[in-house]
This record gives sequence, C-alpha cells and structure tokens, in this order.
Amino acid sequence: MSGFRADVLTLFPEMFPGSLGQSLAGEALKTGRWSLNAHDIRVHGLGKHRAVDDSPAGGGAGMVLRADVLANAIDAVASPEDHRPVLLMSPRGKPMTQAMVREWASGPGIVIVCGRFEGVDERVIEGRHLIEVSIGDYILSGGEPAALVVLDACVRLLPGVMGKIESGEDESFENGLLEYPHFTKPREWEGRTIPEILLSGDHGKIAKWRREQAERLTRERRPDLMGKNQD
Ligand code: SAH
Repeated sequence: MSGFRADVLTLFPEMFPGSLGQSLAGEALKTGRWSLNAHDIRVHGLGKHRAVDDSPAGGGAGMVLRADVLANAIDAVASPEDHRPVLLMSPRGKPMTQAMVREWASGPGIVIVCGRFEGVDERVIEGRHLIEVSIGDYILSGGEPAALVVLDACVRLLPGVMGKIESGEDESFENGLLEYPHFTKPREWEGRTIPEILLSGDHGKIAKWRREQAERLTRERRPDLMGKNQD
C-alpha cells in the first residue's frame, strides 16, 4: 500500500509505536494508511559492545553519537531515491510549525533520527543533509518523545485518518489564529451558561462570533501569530 512511510532511528526502538499505536493513529496504522518502522541504531554499533557513542572531542561532559555509526544506520533505511526528508530531532533545530507538518504529511513519508546523550557528531548532520527540527524551547533526554510528536502531528492530517475532514481545517494555527472556545452539554454547569449566540441557530452570527473570539485569544495569548499566514 502506498501510504505515508515513517522510519525512526533510535537506541530505544521499543518506545515505538507507543502512543501512536492507540486511537486514530493506531487505527490508521492497522489499516495501512501509514507504516512505522523503528530501527535500532545499536545494530550498527562497533565492536563486541556495539558502541554507538564516544566522548566529545575537546572535552566536556556526556557522550556524542558517532558519525560513522549513525551514517550506517541512516544509509540502511533512507535511500536517496525515496525522496523522504531525513529529520534530526534537535533543540537547535527549526521550531516545528503546522506548515512544516502539512508539507511532510503531503509527501511520501519521513525518516526521523532520534538523538541521545549530548547529541550527534556534527559531520553526520552535514554529510547526510539532516534537517534539524525542534519541538520547542526545552531539553528532552532523547529525541524519541519528539519523534512521537512529529509523527502524531503528521498522521492526523493523512487522508481518511480523522473522522471529520473539517476538524483538521478549523484547528489552531491552520489559519494563523488560535481556535475559538468550545462548549457542549449541559446547557448550564455550576452556574455558567453557554454564550447565547451559539444556541441561536444563526450560522452567520456564530461564524462571526467564533472569528472574533479566535482573534481576541490570539491577540491576548500569541500576538506573535497575528497577521502571520502559516503558509
Ligand atoms: N546537548 C544538547 C541537548 C541534547 S538532548 C543541546 O544542548 O542542544 C538529547 C537529545 O534529545 C537530542 O539529541 C535531541 O535528539 C533530543 N531533544 C532534546 N530536546 C529536544 C527538542 N526540544 N526538540 C527535539 N529534540 C530534542
């Protein structure tokens, strides 16, 4: 089946599919709308102990993933002909946006390299044209949770994965705005009511109210997004 193909290179392949084996992503995985293969980098490790890392040149704390080992792991999975971007999860990377996710989700798939320890040898980033991607300004202990985040964001955009097609389009960031507030039953809860306009049945007014709310929330919480088209 020609679905979205994800390959992940990691020292902890048992962390996958993890949360992606559940719910909508899990269903889509079972029905073959996408595929996920986690590959153990250690298979390419050196010597009796399958060493994958070593101490940083120039000294300092921690260990660094070796360029040769990682390149062998990448070459075993990503062929230049398959045209998939090879991402390296990295706090130094380009902060991930919904526009980036949409681009990846519309392609043949992605290869994700998960770092560990202090990171990876710089030469493999250059030599294999790795695209460094960050999921936010904080430090994780490894790239695996970040890879799960990237894949979750991609998979929900694949055709047929989400129940209702519209629920993908109205979302925060999709139109450069945060989403408007939601309400459901009961009509009154702990003395709080639902805004009257949402119960009016007037779709024009409802759309206008939601737009205003989205703009207000974006202005208050994320003024940096205002007027920014995500494309
Ligand atoms: N010494 C590095 C941090 C290493 S954290 C530095 O200061 O930049 C270990 C690994 O976790 C990284 O190689 C990366 O793969 C992953 N990681 C940590 N934080 C991340 C983030 N915000 N986004 C994506 N990956 C992250």
